Formats: sequence, structure tokens, C-alpha cells
Amino acid sequence: MRVKCVLCDKVDKIDDHILLAKRLRNRPIHTYMCEVCHDRIATRTNERKELGTLPTEHTNEKESDWV
Ligand SMILES: [Zn+2]
Repeated sequence: MRVKCVLCDKVDKIDDHILLAKRLRNRPIHTYMCEVCHDRIATRTNERKELGTLPTEHTNEKESDWV
């Protein structure tokens, strides 16, 4: 079946029997993302995840108030 990438409008052909094709047939076609866009988003998500795992240290400027 032919699918269109939601992000870059690239038209791809995917095998009818793969899980993705079955999923797309049951849902609107615009949920498809081509490999390039998928990778780009996956990379960005991973980067964000790595940033999220870093300890967030809030330096409280008013800390001296409680001394
Ligand atoms: Zn794309």
C-alpha cells in the first residue's frame, strides 16, 4: 500500500502484510511517518530523554535567607 509521510509529504510504499500497514489501514493515513522523519524525531526524543535524566539542580538564591 502507498502511504504519505505526515511531515515531509514523501510517498512511500510499504508491504501490506506488515504490522504498520495493518495499523494504518485501521487509522487515518496521516499517522504515517517516513523512516527519515521517524529517525529524526526518535533522535530528538532520545536527546530530550537524556536531558531529562540529568539531575535538575535548582539554585535557590534566597537560600541565605534561612541562615
Ligand atoms: Zn518524512
